[in-house]
Amino acid sequence: MIKEDIEKVVFTEEEIRAKIRELGQRITEDYKDAKETIYCVGILKGAVVFYTDLVREIDLPVHFDFMIASSYGNGTSTSGTVKILKDLDYDVEGKHLIIIEDIIDSGTTMNYLMKYFRERKPKSVKLCALLSKPSRRTVDVSIDYCGFEIPDEFIVGYGLDYAEKYRNLPFIGVLKPEIYA
Ligand code: 5GP
Repeated sequence: MIKEDIEKVVFTEEEIRAKIRELGQRITEDYKDAKETIYCVGILKGAVVFYTDLVREIDLPVHFDFMIASSYGNGTSTSGTVKILKDLDYDVEGKHLIIIEDIIDSGTTMNYLMKYFRERKPKSVKLCALLSKPSRRTVDVSIDYCGFEIPDEFIVGYGLDYAEKYRNLPFIGVLKPEIYA
């Protein structure tokens, strides 16, 4: 049972649900007069659970697109380089982009991707991240819609993995130390 590997719960299902409702309402309010198409761009795989819950709290027509970017190996520290393994499907020039990411840690991945998105000349680009670890930042990233700020602790669940495991936990937690042994 994967829940047995968790030492402590950081955010419960209910806390996550309430926060996502709040983020969805803010986004709905901010874009309610937008004339151009809104593309919600999910960064796979970590953001997939957050993405599917968030888009259902946005009460506006949105288009879906996804990108796969990777700067991590199988462990818990960044490799420093960002690889795009799947690009956007659509031409987003002149459109509104809302980038949906699970967590901003060092900021390396999103700093790179935000430049990449801006080069595609969208009408606007905003970033929505469920989690942020400000104390870990090595490059600047501005988060327009941030769910929770957390300390420097490695977390799993609700899309976030450790070696591809624990993404399907419905809450966010910290693993028992022996799992890394
Ligand atoms: P950054 O480029 O900001 O250092 O890292 C972003 C990526 O690192 C996230 O999309 C996520 O995949 C991974 N990451 C950063 N911190 C954590 C964490 O605490 N837990 C997990 N599971 N992944 C993390």
